[in-house]
Amino acid sequence: MINASTTLCCVIGNPIKHSFSPQIHNLGYEKLGLNFCFLAFEVEDLKKAIDGIRAFNIRGTSVTIPHKIKIMEYLDKVDKRALKIGAVNTVVNKQGVLTGYNTDGEGALTAIKKITTLKNKKVALLGAGGAARAIATILEEELANIWLFARDKKKANAFAKDFKIEKILPLANISAVSGADIIINATPTGMHPNINITLVPAKLLHKKQIVFDIVYNPKETRLIKDAKKTGCRVVYGYEMLLYQAVAQFKLYTGIEAPVSQMRQELVNVLTH
Ligand code: NAP
Repeated sequence: MINASTTLCCVIGNPIKHSFSPQIHNLGYEKLGLNFCFLAFEVEDLKKAIDGIRAFNIRGTSVTIPHKIKIMEYLDKVDKRALKIGAVNTVVNKQGVLTGYNTDGEGALTAIKKITTLKNKKVALLGAGGAARAIATILEEELANIWLFARDKKKANAFAKDFKIEKILPLANISAVSGADIIINATPTGMHPNINITLVPAKLLHKKQIVFDIVYNPKETRLIKDAKKTGCRVVYGYEMLLYQAVAQFKLYTGIEAPVSQMRQELVNVLTH
């Protein structure tokens, strides 16, 4: 029931119509009987949107492309992890003070930790973009050994200035993934509609490895299919997406999210 006491949360981005956040968060509010409502806003003028968050006292704002970096300059505080990642995907408004967080790393960590620990593991991280930075932050915190695979040498070297990287490898050396304990694809490779593409030929996988593909559209990518056929344990991209939303839910409401019901909703709304 929406009334004059309803607390508003939202996601901002441009475009925004593809966002699953309203369904997942609203489902959580409904299941827990919280007087909260979550909407999506297509935002062009970020500064005005921030003024709106303050003026309408919007409790929680999820942030997506293209505003994740620029928004940092309009906030009152940015937490340590988001600063290290260099991007904010979550803004919490506490009595008019706006604090930025980044829950992508936490989402990845919760998803991986369901099946393994990271300390001293050799992790092949494919990609050097925004999501790879979020994942490298938690890999570093958990004392994993990061092997960075990237196609652009300059970007890889810049990445290695911000994170403790054990090895930098070009994608031409992809056969080196065979020596890793965990392989994480943090590139868009394999995303719909290019669903038959993978950066890791199946013959390089072996069954003791854990394979995590952060691509969630399709739910089961070519890489995940190959890994399952090989006998590897796998982590689905939608689990990271789920747990980053679960972390936001807690930041916005102060209450633990109903995880399994939110997972079911997410699986239902992901069409591929
Ligand atoms: P991004 O900042 O644009 O970075 C993409 C990275 O992938 C860059 O290093 C890019 O290399 C590399 N790359 C792109 N196409 C490639 C190709 N064909 N071969 C090799 N490398 C390639 O994007 P992002 O925000 O990190 O997102 C990456 C993917 O993760 C997207 O599919 C996104 O939907 C997904 N994602 C999932 C979650 C989740 O919760 N599951 C969260 C965030 C993102 P260059 O720099 O050389 O172009």
